[in-house]
Amino acid sequence: MYNQTAYELGTNGCIIRELGQYGDALAARIGKENVFNFCIGNPSLPTPKAVQEAFLDILQHTDSLALHSYTPAIGSLACRQAIADNLNQRFSANATADDLIIGCGAAPELAAVFHALAFPGSEILTVAPYFPEYKPLVEASGAAFRVVPAAAPDFQIPMAALEAMLTPNTAAVLLNSPNNPSGVVYTRKTLEALSRLLTRKGEEFGHPIYIVSDEPYRELAYGVEVPFVPGIYPNTIVCYSYSKSLSLPGERIGYVYIPKNAADAQALYHAVEGGFRATGHICAPSLLQAVIARCAHLTPDLTMYDKNRTTLYNALTEFGYQVAKPDGAFYLFVKAPGGNAMAFVEKAKEQGLLVVPGDDFGCPEYFRMCYCVSHDQILRSLPIFRRLAK
Ligand code: PLP
Repeated sequence: MYNQTAYELGTNGCIIRELGQYGDALAARIGKENVFNFCIGNPSLPTPKAVQEAFLDILQHTDSLALHSYTPAIGSLACRQAIADNLNQRFSANATADDLIIGCGAAPELAAVFHALAFPGSEILTVAPYFPEYKPLVEASGAAFRVVPAAAPDFQIPMAALEAMLTPNTAAVLLNSPNNPSGVVYTRKTLEALSRLLTRKGEEFGHPIYIVSDEPYRELAYGVEVPFVPGIYPNTIVCYSYSKSLSLPGERIGYVYIPKNAADAQALYHAVEGGFRATGHICAPSLLQAVIARCAHLTPDLTMYDKNRTTLYNALTEFGYQVAKPDGAFYLFVKAPGGNAMAFVEKAKEQGLLVVPGDDFGCPEYFRMCYCVSHDQILRSLPIFRRLAK
């Protein structure tokens, strides 16, 4: 006997990884130089030197037994304090170490938070386009997963459509900005309108509607403001990750931040602690916590991503593609010529060009490209895009 839902999750592979692996196999067959793989959001910026140095220094100069022991379940005080200091310095957050729980990256943090928020019959809403893993993560908590349809072409939050989907069963609205897959950054104006709406509906329903702000791309923005969501709407739970900002996706480290002025903040904090226990990932890696205690203030040098972004965006729009304005993250979300992304992806595959159809992101007319690849790959792929545009 086994759980059928889990079986289906395990066997229905994620299309992003499947296409990525297809690309690797194709490269082995026809040569790496003939494959243009834009599928996987693995950072291509080197991990900052200061982070590498921190690893080495900590390993060389810390007693190994102490270093590799379990930390407290919620994370070491040093790590939580460094993050609180950074939030205060950048956003005047008024955070303390007691508002933070260290986690193993955004995905398990989201799992813990959904467990904390789900109640019988509850619903968690997100806005398309969205990260496909949200669905299994939300559903595993027992909450129903609901998607507010996308508002193309700018992909800001469609407020009327969202309002129509809010019910007394809405536990939370899950946001991701800068967004995977669109690269769009929700503006302050958008977030202020959302804040007004959720405040009004929360009063009407007699309970707060939380925002869960999934922020692996917070530091990846190109000349635009990424508003600090708790500064606009206090009932916000932030799930942060260092996977992309410090190019550490394989190391699994991040945090959950619950502002003191969120509704029921203390009880909520304990519920999230419980969510971490229930999903089995307390005591994040000790070595990584020691590194973050020293490196929480670091931000990436985005020059390389920005160059890739500008080259691709300019070229694709010149070829006639409709592209969401990519102000953040390292993705472009492009409308497939003809409006059928699956068909476009198959055609592109024939030419060694691998992009991900938007179906699983809630936008079947679009495809996603990750531009965290070499600039050379981008330049050499442009003639193929030009041909496919026709
Ligand atoms: N949320 C979004 C929007 C993502 O794009 C990703 C990873 O690509 C995650 C969460 C998971 O990130 P992590 O590596 O921190 O678990």
